[in-house]
Amino acid sequence: MKLYNTLTRKKMEFKPISSEVRIYSCGPTVYGNAHVGNLRAYIVSDTLKRVLQHLSYKVRHVMNVTDVGHLVGDGSLGEDKLKQAARSEHKSAKQVAEEYERLFLIDMKKLNIERPSVIARATAHIPQILVLIDKLDALGYLYKLNTGIYFDTSKFKGYGELAGMSFEQLNDSLIAGARVERPSGTRNITDFAVWRFSPKEEKEMVWESRYGRGFPGWHIECSAISMEYLGNHFDIHTGGVDHIMIHHQNEIAQSESATGEKFVNFWVHNEFLKVNGRKMSKSLHNIYTLEDLGKSGISPEGYKYFVLSGHYRSIMNLTTESLQNAEKTLNGIYNFIERVSAAGTEGRIDKALEKEVNTARDRFFSWMENDMNTPEALSSMHALISAVNRRASSSRLSDKDSALIINAMVEMDSVLGLSFEKHAAIKSIAPAAMKLINEREDARAQKDFKKADRLRNELAESFGIIVEDGKDGPVWRRAT
Ligand SMILES: [Zn+2]
Repeated sequence: MKLYNTLTRKKMEFKPISSEVRIYSCGPTVYGNAHVGNLRAYIVSDTLKRVLQHLSYKVRHVMNVTDVGHLVGDGSLGEDKLKQAARSEHKSAKQVAEEYERLFLIDMKKLNIERPSVIARATAHIPQILVLIDKLDALGYLYKLNTGIYFDTSKFKGYGELAGMSFEQLNDSLIAGARVERPSGTRNITDFAVWRFSPKEEKEMVWESRYGRGFPGWHIECSAISMEYLGNHFDIHTGGVDHIMIHHQNEIAQSESATGEKFVNFWVHNEFLKVNGRKMSKSLHNIYTLEDLGKSGISPEGYKYFVLSGHYRSIMNLTTESLQNAEKTLNGIYNFIERVSAAGTEGRIDKALEKEVNTARDRFFSWMENDMNTPEALSSMHALISAVNRRASSSRLSDKDSALIINAMVEMDSVLGLSFEKHAAIKSIAPAAMKLINEREDARAQKDFKKADRLRNELAESFGIIVEDGKDGPVWRRAT
């Protein structure tokens, strides 16, 4: 698979460090609803994971939940947004965090995003965070101010590399762009707090440490959590382009300073989602959630299809028209699947059709494996749909043709996650189940009937597929 790497600014062949691909994704900050712009990042990381799984890689995917310490502004000033939300909602910070985490996971489910292997709350990893801070302290990277413990970014060689800048260039550009509010006393504008002190009266979300009572900074939680579950050096880190300049740069600085090892091989960043050509912002009142889209008749799958219709490294523009088009196109695909899966009279496979299906399917996956080019992959799928429609109007599809088409569609959906199988009346079968059916056939050919029986049971239990051996070989059907 080829992937664009922000670190090298090149598309590169992906090679995993070990047999299991390890991916980390910056998760949600749970003091409010996730908006559709946030959700784009999770669709992208899930699609990447699915493509790797389709290539038969085992994937370990870790995502954090920022339930503490995400501050107002890009810098380290201001009040924790979680505490602000708790006050305005008359709840404890813990209640607010848990409620928004729950809502976030519901959104993930609606978008058919596979649950990461590990979802790690920052508040459950304070000891690991403090161990990392101690390491950085012992190595002389930290200094104390009256607001907290800060990381001296000038001490990390290569600070700015992810943004393609030198340390001085990055500092100058931040000063010029006034992107960061500078806490008084910091040595460099890029310095950031790894530990923030809390006022004495603060009772919630505070921890004792040898530095003083307080709570961790945002950046340090991602370094500590990724290290805990993926080790010092792992394969892929995902997130939005808005994290390149500061958050991800800081993660690299902390992790590599502490371990002396390379942190991440591939940095994969998705572009912004705009609304009617403008950046989403509270002041413009153009922040939408999945629920908001639902009120205008756009389903979660429709929104997901819209996201997949653009390349993840392109800025996308969300408009009512673009969403309605996506919804309409997706419904057309569902309709096609329903029609084809219900069609088919007994007969042979049409060899020419088989070739067309295989070609479209191969094209689809080679586009997906080429830096996740979802728009091109989707057009390969639409080419298949058109070819089938042309053929179906002149001659009838056999049951085997129909199964062939549906299997290809469902296999493509294993990376899209658009629930095609739900719309396939009878003839679809998951690629993993197909693999078992083939393995079982091999076992039978080698007269390993014990293994064949075991696979038959596995098919029934895991996939609800009943296999029976007929005179022309095994036939399968869905258990009802
Ligand atoms: Zn992060």
